[in-house]
Amino acid sequence: MKKVIVIHYDEIGTKGANRPDFEKAFLNDIKRRFKNLRAQDIWGRILVFLEKENTFDYKRILKQTPGVATFGSGYFLDKDVSIDKIGEFAIALFDSAHPTNFAVRVKRVDKSVSGTSQEFERKIGEHIFEYFNKQIPVKLSGPEFLVAVEFLHKGILVYRKEKGIGGLPVGVSGKAISLLSGGFDSPVATYRLIKRGVIPVGAHFHGMPKTSPKAIEKVMEISRILSNYTGDFDLYLIPTLDAMQEIAKKVPDKLRLIILRRFMMRVVNNLANQVDAKAIITGESVGQVASQTLANLGAIAEASKLPILRPLSGDNKNEIINEAREIGTHDISAQPHDDTCSLFVPKHPETNAKLKEVLEAEALYDIDKLIKYALENTELKKINYVDPKI
Ligand code: ATP
Ligand code: MG
Repeated sequence: MKKVIVIHYDEIGTKGANRPDFEKAFLNDIKRRFKNLRAQDIWGRILVFLEKENTFDYKRILKQTPGVATFGSGYFLDKDVSIDKIGEFAIALFDSAHPTNFAVRVKRVDKSVSGTSQEFERKIGEHIFEYFNKQIPVKLSGPEFLVAVEFLHKGILVYRKEKGIGGLPVGVSGKAISLLSGGFDSPVATYRLIKRGVIPVGAHFHGMPKTSPKAIEKVMEISRILSNYTGDFDLYLIPTLDAMQEIAKKVPDKLRLIILRRFMMRVVNNLANQVDAKAIITGESVGQVASQTLANLGAIAEASKLPILRPLSGDNKNEIINEAREIGTHDISAQPHDDTCSLFVPKHPETNAKLKEVLEAEALYDIDKLIKYALENTELKKINYVDPKI
């Protein structure tokens, strides 16, 4: 018997010719997270072999690993153990847990095993039911405690199966610049694309020294949380005060915000070239605020050569906030900070920007000089993935 963690992957299975690359990326990511342990792909699932006294929080790690469909810890048994023995190991999985119901699900990869999956499920289920004095009933759909038994050619897996976050393995889609503001939306947007295999490179525009360092601290903490999902995280801090002051001086009130956003787009398009990123991610959501009407989104996007990914464009604010809670960024985003843009949000911002007027307004200030200044004074913060103790 060996103690193992069993990981089933999600969408990788549908990737046709790319499948070997995706599987390799996934296995590498698992190995990175479980550094000292042996991890192996066996018949479409990954086994991580635990050593005697591993007391780390494997669940936390796997709940933060893109590409994980299901996971669980349990036992890898010899091929020829009896059904009673399987039942005993299934009972051992419960440890100190007292779920309100359970189910057993059996998969026969090795078809030479005699008996149907249903027969095994019934026998092992009865074993557990009797052991707990018939106090824990079986619930076949959506059980609280799911015992998985998989008959492989090399042995039998018995483990407690739980749901992962799904998606694609870290990094298989390449890099994108993620505009991080410190609010609720942009971290959630970034997380969504991390789950699509995108490596985010953070970019935050700050108004220091006019604004407090709070926004920067928040964005750094958010980046640290995102690094749990994606690994080491690069965050670029871009000084924006000069540009804002210049825009405030030269550009009509109601267009300032759009002009500032276009400035941001131009800066990150340049940055993307430097770091080989292929797209821009924002937390924009249609209609949420004045700068996010369709007309304004269009006027802002026109300043970007690279595609802008807006994974939250169709989400309601409360859906976004709930997701922020799930991924762990909510409490940081909820802290107050001076929003760089709020420094000069006009009383009556434009909600229906016309590109011609926007371009005329943009010509009123020396944008190239300010882009150059912002890029030259950008600071890179490297946020390293913190290894949970293994
Ligand atoms: P968030 O909750 O992400 O702050 P928001 O609801 O405040 O978004 P806006 O202020 O209109 O909405 O910002 C829209 C998007 O523009 C943000 O989600 C973010 O991607 C980007 N953004 C806004 N301000 C900044 C900033 N100072 N630095 C980097 N990106 C920013
Ligand atoms: Mg904001």
